Amino acid sequence: MVENLTHRKNVYKAGFIAIAINLCLAAFKITIGLISNSLAIMSDAIHGVIDTLSGIIIVISEKLGSTHKFKKNHEKIEHYGALLIAAIIIIVGIHLLIESIESVIEPEQPEYSAPIIIILIISIISKFILGRFLRSTGQKVHSDTLIASSVETINDSIISSAVLLSALIYLVWHINIESYISIIIAIIIIKHGLELIFPHFSKHHH
Ligand SMILES: [Zn+2]
Repeated sequence: MVENLTHRKNVYKAGFIAIAINLCLAAFKITIGLISNSLAIMSDAIHGVIDTLSGIIIVISEKLGSTHKFKKNHEKIEHYGALLIAAIIIIVGIHLLIESIESVIEPEQPEYSAPIIIILIISIISKFILGRFLRSTGQKVHSDTLIASSVETINDSIISSAVLLSALIYLVWHINIESYISIIIAIIIIKHGLELIFPHFSKHHH
């Protein structure tokens, strides 16, 4: 019983650290997305906000799952809550997808500067370190939730690297691949929404 309690405390602690870091990074990215007029950075920022939201749902549902005595009732609340958030995520994803497809035809010209590139690099490194931390904590306390979100976080750092790459390609060759990166991010966001509705869909991969 005591071991179980320490286990949960570690999961919460790691969850809160992940939420705080993701929230900070999303705020930074929204800011530089607006400054640079970059669709790819904005999409990456929206993805960050959505992952933070999903993280909050995971922590709340783990908390409810451990404290609520009327399990049937709690499952109902959790189920409808998750469905509502999932619907919002899917709508945001579809909206972004349409906007990204439109920008293939009529791309906006982003304006990058050194501080924007530096913030992108910092965000990639922090996501990667956060992913490693979540994985080691997840393995230590045997939490599938933490291990799953560590995989997600490391994948996110790869997506952010693609955003950085598109910025560098634009700076060096003036080729704009931002819209295509945004399309990929929009599809990932829609997938996140679907995974919230059909959790078994993603769990079967383990
Ligand atoms: Zn994600």
